[in-house]
Amino acid sequence: MLDLCAECHKLLGCDTAHPLSGRPDACGICSGYRLLVHCHCKAAQEIALYNAALRSFVLGMRAGFIENMQNKGGWREIHYGFAARKVLEEAGELAEALIGGHSRDWHVPVMREAADLANFAMFIHSRAGAEASAARSIEARVGERLTRG
Ligand SMILES: [Zn+2]
Ligand SMILES: [Zn+2]
Repeated sequence: MLDLCAECHKLLGCDTAHPLSGRPDACGICSGYRLLVHCHCKAAQEIALYNAALRSFVLGMRAGFIENMQNKGGWREIHYGFAARKVLEEAGELAEALIGGHSRDWHVPVMREAADLANFAMFIHSRAGAEASAARSIEARVGERLTRG
């Protein structure tokens, strides 16, 4: 079961007309704070399972990040090239952890390496997003100045 806003529900393609909830909450797809419907369709169930796995994954990423951050510079200053090399390096460590995975606690390094890999991918995602929005805001300011003359 997934709680989602009417707009996202429409995009999901479910034909059932569910009643809207009495008070707003975070939509399970767009995260917008809206009135929601409870949907049980196959796609909604897949997304609900994905959201639950994502929450657990994000907690693993954060734990790995906090453990790795000691005596290191800020993560937002990490360059694309370094982050991309770390993604590949962490992918190798993840593969090794999977290959070596027959002991009792095999899941610990596998989950850890998957989270480390994702952190470097997230740094790239975040930096690209920040640069794009900075570029948009410069363009908007230049545009404003040009139209004001
Ligand atoms: Zn939504
Ligand atoms: Zn539905």
